[in-house]
Amino acid sequence: MKKKLIAGNWKMNGGLAFNESLVAALRAGTVPPDCDVAVCVPAPYLAHLQTLLAGSAIALGAQDVSQYESGAYTGEVSTAMLKDFGVRYAIVGHSERRLYHGETDGAVSAKTARALAAGITPIVCVGETLAEREAGQTEEVVKRQLAAVIHVNGHCISEIVVAYEPVWAIGTGKTASPEQAQQVHAVLRAQLHAATDRSALMRILYGGSMNAANAAQLLAQPDIDGGLIGGAALKAPDFLTIVAAA
Ligand code: PEP
Repeated sequence: MKKKLIAGNWKMNGGLAFNESLVAALRAGTVPPDCDVAVCVPAPYLAHLQTLLAGSAIALGAQDVSQYESGAYTGEVSTAMLKDFGVRYAIVGHSERRLYHGETDGAVSAKTARALAAGITPIVCVGETLAEREAGQTEEVVKRQLAAVIHVNGHCISEIVVAYEPVWAIGTGKTASPEQAQQVHAVLRAQLHAATDRSALMRILYGGSMNAANAAQLLAQPDIDGGLIGGAALKAPDFLTIVAAA
């Protein structure tokens, strides 16, 4: 059976004391056996989180990964480095990286391939801006973003997790309605179906102001297999409520 996945994206938040108290509160909560849970933390805290999460049901994730194996790429973090700290997931192509760091579909596809080759599950983000939605381009945009990743990764595509994150809903408090989200998830599922016979087993997460109050309705949609959670992942009770809803 396909387990749901709830992944927290801490973004550029955290600190030694903060990490300790948040993880202690998460560990005191319940992770149901039919739900995978991960926290994607800033790179400098991977070692700290590996220690804090040891023996728990919560997996460790990174927020990005280099498309290169090693060498003269100042500031980049390689898959081998992530593996040293037990990282299981890496967010790839988050809209904040596409927007602020100029990450192209090509770079996102290469990062996905690099993560897969290392045995790290990439959580590949796709999503349209508000202007694109208003111009009726939502499907075209998310399909273009996913097609690039499928093109480069071929049959390995079945090993990725996809996250649909409408840019206008990220950190804005505006959530896609369950119907709006399901509509795009169904489009992505159909695209995956054309690429692999394992599409039904793949997880497509929704991300964009998912919170304790709206999670249950979103997660009840047939093609929503979990959530990528930003703001609400920094508050243990909210994150645990979302996990319980899954
Ligand atoms: C995100 O950053 O991936 C995200 C979904 O953020 P938020 O939940 O805060 O909208």
